[in-house]
Amino acid sequence: MQIIKTKAELAALSSSWQKEGQTIGFVPTMGALHAGHLSLINALDGKASRRIVSIFVNPIQFNNTSDFQHYPRGLEDDATLLHNTGKVDVLYAPDESQMYTPGFATRISVSGLDSMLCGEDRPGHFDGVATVVTKLFLQTRANIAAFGEKDYQQLCLIKRMVQDLDLSVNILPVPTLREADGLALSSRNRRLTPEQRQQAALLPQALKACLAAIQNGTSVESSLVTCREALKKAGFHVHYLELRHAENLAPAPIAGKDTRLFVAASLGDIRLIDNMPFA
Ligand code: AMP
Repeated sequence: MQIIKTKAELAALSSSWQKEGQTIGFVPTMGALHAGHLSLINALDGKASRRIVSIFVNPIQFNNTSDFQHYPRGLEDDATLLHNTGKVDVLYAPDESQMYTPGFATRISVSGLDSMLCGEDRPGHFDGVATVVTKLFLQTRANIAAFGEKDYQQLCLIKRMVQDLDLSVNILPVPTLREADGLALSSRNRRLTPEQRQQAALLPQALKACLAAIQNGTSVESSLVTCREALKKAGFHVHYLELRHAENLAPAPIAGKDTRLFVAASLGDIRLIDNMPFA
């Protein structure tokens, strides 16, 4: 596995791969890698002949400086993990000066999808994501890119953007990988204290209970109210808990197989997100 730090070097390699007719698979990440990230790499099996994983903690997608500063980083461990998969050709780890040259002024906005759910209390976050992902698609010349359903809103937004801008990359959605107790794997879990880690497992349990209540005939609204209360009692600050249509994330007053439950809730200053399909 090669470690590349400059976009010029990456461009030279990807363009030579393109000329050879290779299919370039890409997994964008912010590092602090875990098995969830590795499942994205595995999802490219049989679909890509070359694989690039990027690690870049993207400053323009953090609307909270403390969150950016405290975001876990560990390039050496990440590189070892990726190397040991035996599946990654390139770890692309640009620094900020590679991605954002002085005077950088462009933003990509995906209207609507960028201002609901996580966009509501993280203004600018999704513009930052859409902008960096577009740059990474262009830099890597990816033919196929894997994204986790863990960040379902991000996945919807990227799919919309790729369609709207005629980008020539296929988006491969990958199901959320969870711990044995149901907690979705996340780099942010590293920051949980042992006590918070135990509390955090209540989040997926609450989602399951809420979906079961709806399935058993309780109205969507009252199931959501009960679930929000349960999460508050368990020590969470609930940012949102909502049932939405899976395709466009529009509010879903009635549950159906095309609907999904979405939550964002914090323990202390650690914000956790999760989502599950209704059926
Ligand atoms: P991040 O490093 O958190 O920006 O995530 C990079 C990619 O990994 C995104 O596409 C995430 O959705 C995906 N991802 C993160 N956690 C998981 C997980 N538990 N299961 C599947 N994919 C995940």
